[in-house]
Amino acid sequence: MKKIILNIGYLYPTLMNLYGDRGNVTALSYRASLRGIETNVIPLRPGDKIPKKKIHVFFMGGGQDKEQTLIYKDFINLKGQILKDEIESGTAFLAVCGGYQLLGHSYEVFNGEKIKGIGALDVYTEAGKNRSIGNILIDADLYGKKFEVIGFENHGGRTFLGKTVKPLGKVIIGGGNNASDGTEGAVYKNTIATYLHGPILPKNPLLTDFLIERGLSNYNKGFTLDSVKILKNEKNTAKKPVVSSPVSSIEEIAFSSVREIIISEKNKKRELFKRN
Ligand code: GLN
Repeated sequence: MKKIILNIGYLYPTLMNLYGDRGNVTALSYRASLRGIETNVIPLRPGDKIPKKKIHVFFMGGGQDKEQTLIYKDFINLKGQILKDEIESGTAFLAVCGGYQLLGHSYEVFNGEKIKGIGALDVYTEAGKNRSIGNILIDADLYGKKFEVIGFENHGGRTFLGKTVKPLGKVIIGGGNNASDGTEGAVYKNTIATYLHGPILPKNPLLTDFLIERGLSNYNKGFTLDSVKILKNEKNTAKKPVVSSPVSSIEEIAFSSVREIIISEKNKKRELFKRN
């Protein structure tokens, strides 16, 4: 079989990395490896130019206002145009929280100062009065594929979507984009932007697979993950080379136990509220 390589461009790996966001890169590599796909992680730090037409999936994590202020000039001036072109041409991209905000038109820091984003996504972010903090459950709708997504959010920014992007999903429990319109995240072409840390990908393997598949099919039309055999399950049993479900039992158990926790937390809050 021809060797398949997935190039992951990891933007600001040390500065934009809150709540274990780098676990998303690990999840991409892990799930690619299940299909015998090799990964190559390319760090894109301040001062690094983005190689054109090489990266299959970009990832940018969250950051505090301090880190966002430190990197935004490099992001706009050195990387912005190339990233906009890549996003337009269908390169897959996962942007989390602070990274999400900087893909949009602008982000208002808590002290009222407005910093620019690269405008690759038709969204803008205002400073909220309160932070949205806690576990979050959403009903995602990704190009007609409907599934639940779980994660953790901690942000002061309130993001509003323009007409050319679609939300990633509806908030079931949590704050989401702006704690008011019930939406979470933004999807444009093969870019997913979201407030969900967690990290999001290890908790939501379907999203991981979406990014791998879209990233590779963008360069290799018609490529599907289903066409690549799953080489091993989580126990690496060579005797069982193909598992029927692409999501392993460990991943399923992890998902449903966190989902239970999120739901029970909500009920607890309600009980507390009633007692007071
Ligand atoms: N500093 C941003 C905010 O508070 C992003 C935070 C984050 O990435 N978690 O909204």
